[in-house]
Amino acid sequence: MLTEKTMEKLRVLAESAKYDVSCSSSGTVRGGKKGMVGSTVGGLGICHSFADDGRCIALLKVMLTNYCMYDCAYCINRRSNDIPRATLSVTELEEITMEFYRRNYIEGLFLSSGVVRNPDYTMERLAAIARDLRTVHRFNGYIHLKSIPGASQELLNEAGRYADRMSVNIEIPNEESLKMLAPEKDHQSVFQPMRLIQQGVLENKEDRRRMRHAPRFVPAGQSTQMIVGATKETDRDILQMSSALYGQPTMRRVYYSGYISVNTTDPRLPVLKQPPLVRENRLYQADWLLRFYHFKVDEIVDERHANLDLEIDPKLAWALRHPEVFPVDINTADYEQLLRVPGLGTKSAWLIVNSRRFGRLTSYDLKKMGVVMKKAKYFITCHELTHSPATLLTSVNELSPERLRPLLVSKVRQKQAAEERQLRLDFG
Ligand code: SF4
Repeated sequence: MLTEKTMEKLRVLAESAKYDVSCSSSGTVRGGKKGMVGSTVGGLGICHSFADDGRCIALLKVMLTNYCMYDCAYCINRRSNDIPRATLSVTELEEITMEFYRRNYIEGLFLSSGVVRNPDYTMERLAAIARDLRTVHRFNGYIHLKSIPGASQELLNEAGRYADRMSVNIEIPNEESLKMLAPEKDHQSVFQPMRLIQQGVLENKEDRRRMRHAPRFVPAGQSTQMIVGATKETDRDILQMSSALYGQPTMRRVYYSGYISVNTTDPRLPVLKQPPLVRENRLYQADWLLRFYHFKVDEIVDERHANLDLEIDPKLAWALRHPEVFPVDINTADYEQLLRVPGLGTKSAWLIVNSRRFGRLTSYDLKKMGVVMKKAKYFITCHELTHSPATLLTSVNELSPERLRPLLVSKVRQKQAAEERQLRLDFG
């Protein structure tokens, strides 16, 4: 039974945990097992918010403690902040998780922590919670643990045996800026645990090849988070870091978190009225291009365009910079070319390639496949668009990118982008 005191601690610690966005799950499958409590269904994606009143939510996102010996400028929980503090004991946290899980409030746990005493002391508690949940309480839900930079390999290995996913946040893509805002951290302290987790996952893969029933190690891989807009780094810097991380075999997701101005009096930080949400959204779109559309970072951003265009999405921006590639003939282009067309997603590109074996495609077919014709029509040709005078359309080349651009940017977008540009500060 959860006491009033425990619930009060939970309220404080859930509030402190809400700024970490690296917790949404790509879903692992944990089928129901005899003797274990519950199961998870892969692919559903687990919600990563916790309501104060404990209403029907899927992931309990909480910190073990919000005391911290570090003083990272961008963090609400830093040592020098005067905020309500609380610590849950290992037993309390296990009780809360099991109680919420049995009541069907949650499907899993996202557990992070401030660093107390030293990294090993903190990591030991996180690992103990994951271990007890699995072995004592027979918890069969999803567990995402934050690994504490500087913790020993033994403790990371112990935690990895019971967690589905682990993450270490890079926070700032440039080491110099990271050191300015978080003097106790450096990139080495972040990359080291990442490497150790990766090593564990790869070794586990080998073990499972030899012994099918060897226990899994961090089966849902790793994730990380970068803060956007707290330092002078450009989108190019951020995406280059993401691309390098995706080169690692166990990195599943990089999350981008628009900087929320939590420590307004710190002179090292910009004072923002609101987080740079449009920029955050553009980075997620660019990230999508890297992972699923076979784009390279240098195609999305380069020296001349080091930041993403806030008014239009990155694929459209690329297409307007490369009109020579268009128009693409829907009835003959290969899958890779189709992926580059604004308004066409991976699913519609795949459908086009498969459907045209049965006949020539028209704009009517494309609409049915979910192609956003409002955008795509300037970049494609297809049988009927080329041959019927009634539907003959002007391509990006005939219209010129400069004249086409305003047609594709809505007034609302222009206003949002202008507001956000005002948020960008001159860090120089
Ligand atoms: S170590 Fe983590 S919890 Fe502690 S101040 Fe830094 S970001 Fe915040």
